[in-house]
Amino acid sequence: MTTPLVEMDGDEMTRILWKMIKEELLEPYIDLQTEYYDLGLEHRNETDDQVTLDSAEATKKYGVAVKCATITPNAARMTEYNLKEMWKSPNGTIRAALDGTVFRAPIVVKGIEPCVRNWEKPITLARHAYGDVYKNAEIKVPGAGKAELVFTAQDGTQIRETIHEFTGAGILQGIHNTDESISSFARACFNFALDTKQDLWFATKDTISKKYDHNFKDIFQEIYDTEYKDRFEAAGIEYFYTLIDDAVARVMKAKGGFIWACKNYDGDVMSDMVSSAFGSLAMMTSVLVSPSGVYEYEAAHGTVQRHYYKHLKGEETSTNSVATIFAWTGALRKRGELDQNQELMAFADRLERATTQTIEAGKMTKDLALITSLKDVTVLNSADFIKAVRATFEEIS
Ligand code: NAP
Ligand code: MG
Repeated sequence: MTTPLVEMDGDEMTRILWKMIKEELLEPYIDLQTEYYDLGLEHRNETDDQVTLDSAEATKKYGVAVKCATITPNAARMTEYNLKEMWKSPNGTIRAALDGTVFRAPIVVKGIEPCVRNWEKPITLARHAYGDVYKNAEIKVPGAGKAELVFTAQDGTQIRETIHEFTGAGILQGIHNTDESISSFARACFNFALDTKQDLWFATKDTISKKYDHNFKDIFQEIYDTEYKDRFEAAGIEYFYTLIDDAVARVMKAKGGFIWACKNYDGDVMSDMVSSAFGSLAMMTSVLVSPSGVYEYEAAHGTVQRHYYKHLKGEETSTNSVATIFAWTGALRKRGELDQNQELMAFADRLERATTQTIEAGKMTKDLALITSLKDVTVLNSADFIKAVRATFEEIS
């Protein structure tokens, strides 16, 4: 490796897996170079969360990070870890610093079939992570009256629109988005499509929302036409816009192998549908891509707290490390790509193959054993699964 990865360590069971993955699957085979940031809750608390900000800055500097799952503190964690403050979600802090879009894709293996029979390839979901109903203003209307939408410009001029003349009680909601955020979202999606050579689908409800949703459609189309059309054509991929209800119907009939870009709310709802239909949260990769071309790889699941408490009591755990292994391979492959390091890219590919082949040979953790269509599976504990991946890796080397 010629450039280090930004390594963000985390909490609980995933922190245990993190160490095992490094010791068993990475350090024996590559000259692993990382700049290490300990985002474990104790260290975040000691540094007043400065370590999270520092790790985000380092990601901007180096371009590629790999992150372990971390605890987002709540009231119970305040006492458990004796925290000075209820620190914010590290993912939220990093997302805000990098201004990114989150892409989530299932890891597809034979034996873990999606509920939707015709999904042959993964569907990647790209969620816009700013605005709309997540940054709204709401009023519970007490009784009859007139509701208006008013915009006051800096020079005092106003734009005014009647929302509704209420004759009785009701409800009101004001939402917004910005052209800047929508443009960043669009570019992140177009770049990711080019990067992964997949078609990009985008959908809104522009027939009903003729200004709000239409603005999303127009910004995507303009950026596509002026900045991406030629490159898409050269790569043999397509940008496809349709209505959200049509998109949902088509997704269910599709074979997969494309990126589905969703507005914030659609992405929230549809990513849970797509991930559970593909089988398991522990088989889902997640990467944050910033418009400036910075990447942060992680697993889509949390710190698997319940398993960690069993581990602390000395009981055996069978925690699935696949998404965490793929966070590492994703980051290493991207580092290899940026540094034109073919060997590193080949290593990442081979480790991924070793991981999926181990499962396909019937060796897996308990969560997958419960849903697999394979017969005669061997259920392995957390450590033995990683060792089994290592054995497969040695075999295919
Ligand atoms: P979670 O860690 O994703 O686990 C929820 C349940 O899903 C587990 O109890 C387990 O079910 C199953 N599961 C998830 N990942 C698994 C894996 N790799 N292998 C096997 N089973 C797996 O979510 P949570 O328990 O709600 O959250 C725990 C902590 O994680 C919280 O403090 C939260 O703040 C944090 N979190 C962090 C991130 C992140 O950093 N990206 C994301 C989400 C949550 P069974 O117990 O039935 O086996
Ligand atoms: Mg959700």
